[in-house]
Amino acid sequence: MKRLYIATFGCQMNEYDSIRIEELLSDNYKKVFEPKDADLIILNTCAIREKAEHKVYSLLGRFKHLKKKNPSLILAVGGCVAQQRGEEFFERFPYLDIVFGPHAIFKLPELIKTLEINRKHLCINNLEPHFVIPRARGQLWGIDSVRAYVTVMQGCDNFCTYCIVPYVRGREASRPPGDIIDEVRLLVASGIKEITLLGQNVNSYGKKEQGFPSFAQLLKEVSKIKGLKRLRFTTSHPKDLSPDLIECFSQIDNLCPHIHLPVQAGSNKVLRAMNRHYTREKYLELVSDLRSVCPDISLTTDLIVGFPGETQEDFEQTLSLLEEVKFDQIFAFKYSPRPGTKAAKMSNQVPELEKKKRLAKVLELQDKIGLQRLSRFVGKNIKVLVDGVSKSNPKQLCGRSPGNHVVNFVGTKDLIGKEIDIYIEHACQHSLKGRILDKKGTGGEFIQEVVNG
Ligand code: SF4
Repeated sequence: MKRLYIATFGCQMNEYDSIRIEELLSDNYKKVFEPKDADLIILNTCAIREKAEHKVYSLLGRFKHLKKKNPSLILAVGGCVAQQRGEEFFERFPYLDIVFGPHAIFKLPELIKTLEINRKHLCINNLEPHFVIPRARGQLWGIDSVRAYVTVMQGCDNFCTYCIVPYVRGREASRPPGDIIDEVRLLVASGIKEITLLGQNVNSYGKKEQGFPSFAQLLKEVSKIKGLKRLRFTTSHPKDLSPDLIECFSQIDNLCPHIHLPVQAGSNKVLRAMNRHYTREKYLELVSDLRSVCPDISLTTDLIVGFPGETQEDFEQTLSLLEEVKFDQIFAFKYSPRPGTKAAKMSNQVPELEKKKRLAKVLELQDKIGLQRLSRFVGKNIKVLVDGVSKSNPKQLCGRSPGNHVVNFVGTKDLIGKEIDIYIEHACQHSLKGRILDKKGTGGEFIQEVVNG
């Protein structure tokens, strides 16, 4: 077997694509964790922020010496930056072998074969969305051995003025429902307990395809698959969050009480400039509808600070929105101009230092709110799906609550993949700590066992 090193940047779509890449190449390649050990290095790139793009360039620069040492090493760049820059990559990195866009993943085995015969640069970045059909290979499926993503659609039609996705991932295309159901069935049969349905904007699933179900209908169908313990989805655009989908939170037993609903800004003026097609008031109404259907729903969001034209007053409206909604978690970023987008050409850019200050303020406020939100679980029992050994403490296990909060506790590895009751003792900044309940229930006896080897 040859050896594959793959580095993934960006969103869950890219994580999903990397898993598909590993799977497609698994007849000839096994995964390694150090670039120096690899015969094939793939960088699966993200174009959403400048920082992630620069990281790719810097890594490629560092790989030059590996290529010098081992001329048969294959160096490939995939993902959104590859789609956007295409052949340009070869000018800057002449030792690079393959550039492939996100829709060309399925061509990768063929590209590698061609390259092995005739060592010439290869670039494919002009294909339409294509869904890679997975094969039944249990160990390669998931984010871990318990959870997996399943893509339901690709691309985006929304053209938010800051976002590069519609230019690199193309227009929205939904995957046939039968393929989705088949993939979930395969995953569940291979031991996966939790599925997250993925798309740039899952709420508009099937709207363009004749005879496709709505996303709410698809969710109901998927939820019925025997053995599926937990179902999630991401991402939802607020403008397309339908009452039917909101109702799903009270109708589907295995749908987890969590929604990631990117708000991006608290000011209507900024939301308009971002081309988001909802107002602050509409967003708050959606939050209230969600909470009336599912009172303890966990809400997470994305935020951009320092969007062009964002005044101090606009920014304060973002802070007040945080106070008002009380998100469980936020993913906040400084606005990063992306070449080719409308916002990058706007004349009223916010100075970098100001963006930094605003980001620090938002994070400081959210730290307080997040901790308050997590504290509501202290002294309670929650069902945790155990997904592995804790990253911060190898003597502990970790898992997720239904609301997607990380929970750490002491336990044995045979619990991985099981849903167990945990008594929450402590809320940390971004996670919960607890202990396993004994069979008698509340508070339970503390079962202290060190994780096996
Ligand atoms: S909805 Fe907006 S932010 Fe999300 S992928 Fe589409 S264009 Fe980008």
